[in-house]
Amino acid sequence: MENIHELKELLSLPKDIVITTHRNPDGDAIGSALGLRHLLEKNSHSVKIVCPSEYPDFLNWMPGVDDIIIYDTETEEGNKEIEKADLFFCLDFNSLDRIDKTGEAIMARKDTKKVMIDHHLYPEPFADFIMSDTTASSTCELIVDFAHMIGWIRDMDQTIGNCLFTGILTDTGSFRYSTSPKLYRVVAELIETGVDDYKLQDLIFNSMREKHLRLLGHCLANRMEILDEYHTGIITLTKDDYARFDIQRGDTEGIVNYLLRLKNIKMAAFITEQPNIVKLSLRSKGDFSVQEIAQKHFKGGGHRNASGGASFIGLRNTVKKFKSLLPNYKEALEKAE
Ligand code: 5GP
Ligand code: MN
Repeated sequence: MENIHELKELLSLPKDIVITTHRNPDGDAIGSALGLRHLLEKNSHSVKIVCPSEYPDFLNWMPGVDDIIIYDTETEEGNKEIEKADLFFCLDFNSLDRIDKTGEAIMARKDTKKVMIDHHLYPEPFADFIMSDTTASSTCELIVDFAHMIGWIRDMDQTIGNCLFTGILTDTGSFRYSTSPKLYRVVAELIETGVDDYKLQDLIFNSMREKHLRLLGHCLANRMEILDEYHTGIITLTKDDYARFDIQRGDTEGIVNYLLRLKNIKMAAFITEQPNIVKLSLRSKGDFSVQEIAQKHFKGGGHRNASGGASFIGLRNTVKKFKSLLPNYKEALEKAE
């Protein structure tokens, strides 16, 4: 961030700050928002988090999560905070369509400065201050860099550490992807604040309900299709599955990754029928990019090995469309390592 001095100056006096993050927030979105919130509050700022949609239940234990304003259902309160904000932080997303109506309300505040902190590919330049590092594991990792840049690293404490460690854990699948020497150094700093990593792993990953495990069983036993020729696996879920297993937001988190456990599978697609759209979650191994597929064909994006998108032609046709794309990528899938 070249204009860091200007931002430092802005943050040197108490401000009303609104933090926002992407629709259907995950551990990194909520973790980075809460971690930054506590960091800003320690430095005399007043902070509200306005999130476009509800967060998943497995994050219920996070410190301060109850105060998050959900724009979908608490629009008036969200607008009130957006109206009076002196500064906005946009975390863990790279384009305004990821926050739809919340983004419209924020962009209507033309003269108010906006900061983007994100690790997705191809950030859109909608903010005045941009900290974008696509090599970072997570936005939570970047919040630690931000604390160093602003000179707030001494303010890191266990509460902030717990929030940031959560996003690192969830975005790296417990240190299975997007790791780097620097990430482990950042993690060491967080552990030094008193973060209990075993307890956090337990809170985050061992909080499944019986129905979740049964849903996973159903996906693997009845809804999985393996296309060996294309090194690709697909899991689909219908509206009926959602009703039968009483699936809520967040309940399907992580299912797509099971496909990558298969030896020859290099791309995984989890395709689900939502009330108005069909949602795609794509994952890949090695240098094969699902970002390109998500962006070119499903109005989405994300990272090289983890991206998402949507489709409006129904579940069956979406699966058909996805399969019809595979011959174009056959060679790249063969070669990918
Ligand atoms: P997930 O599959 O877990 O929902 O998302 C994987 C990655 O893709 C995340 O980094 C997420 O931000 C991104 N992503 C998911 N859905 C969309 C989408 O509809 N549009 C864009 N641009 N990115 C998405
Ligand atoms: Mn993230």
